[in-house]
Amino acid sequence: MISKIIDENLIQRIDQMMLKCSSFVIVGHENPDGDAMGSTLALAHFLRSLGKEQVQVIMPNAFPDNLSWLPGAENVLVYTKEAEACRQYLTQADVIFFLDLNELSRTGKMAPCFEGLMAYRIMIDHHEHPDSFAHLIVSHPEISSTSELVFRLICRTGRLDILSYESSVCIYTGMMTDTGAFAYNSNAKDIYIIIYQLLLKGIDKDQIYRNVYYASSENRLRMIGYALYRSMEIIPEYHTSIMTMPRQKIKQFKLKAGDTDSLVNQPLTIKDVNLSVFLKEEDVIRISFRSIGNIPVNRLARELFGGGGHLNAAGGRHQGSLQEAVQIVREALPGFFASLAE
Ligand code: MN
Repeated sequence: MISKIIDENLIQRIDQMMLKCSSFVIVGHENPDGDAMGSTLALAHFLRSLGKEQVQVIMPNAFPDNLSWLPGAENVLVYTKEAEACRQYLTQADVIFFLDLNELSRTGKMAPCFEGLMAYRIMIDHHEHPDSFAHLIVSHPEISSTSELVFRLICRTGRLDILSYESSVCIYTGMMTDTGAFAYNSNAKDIYIIIYQLLLKGIDKDQIYRNVYYASSENRLRMIGYALYRSMEIIPEYHTSIMTMPRQKIKQFKLKAGDTDSLVNQPLTIKDVNLSVFLKEEDVIRISFRSIGNIPVNRLARELFGGGGHLNAAGGRHQGSLQEAVQIVREALPGFFASLAE
């Protein structure tokens, strides 16, 4: 059916852990997106289908409102809101799954909680350069979403028959959101075989699309208007867009978690823009990069801000002012593009 990507030995070992252990915690990354929520919830549903009762999904901080309809989202624990309860689940866990993240620092303020725990650690992820904090590492940067990896894992254990409708909805949501609704990183033929399988499970892909993308608040839409009209700056010689969101505007538009997530993609819809940089003033300055084609924004994120990510989508953070961070980006552009031309 679909190609075998994950190493057979890893499949066997994870399968044994799932069968033999009784208490599971599944952790996603800070500022959870559709893939972090989709993959963790999908695996949680699958473990319950296996008869496991102690399965807890934990996110380091709040997830966006447009993902709260996901089956099981109502039971997700958020560390910044219920730290003590989260610590208890972690202490009792036999196995901790880390999904859609490649290093512990991606769990933000929650990262110190993993010190000294007895639990067996399994990472399933698609970001480059996985750190070695887990006992088992399933790392496939060539796959466009962790949710797809979760499907592949379930499929390879030979238990596709017990994959539930709820789990299927979560998998599809993660696959959809990490590819911009199958607009990028989505040419792999297997993706559509997997979607076919999920449709057989009864998912309503059109409804999932509306749940995720037609869920904006009026404030959010006005914020996008502001950002594109007032803030977006185009640098024609580098086919680059720089956009900022100052703290004062976050307040003015009453922005919530996830409200600015897709904004960085917008400038790429301009014909001659291939690189988009979005800088948001939170507790630190958070910088998002997106590109089209062979422009390695993960390199830019790493070199400028110690961050990382994928070839066409990456991020980093800066301690200091918004203006400073913008300046760092600006000054790096000539050298960056010169090095690409070499
Ligand atoms: Mn992902």
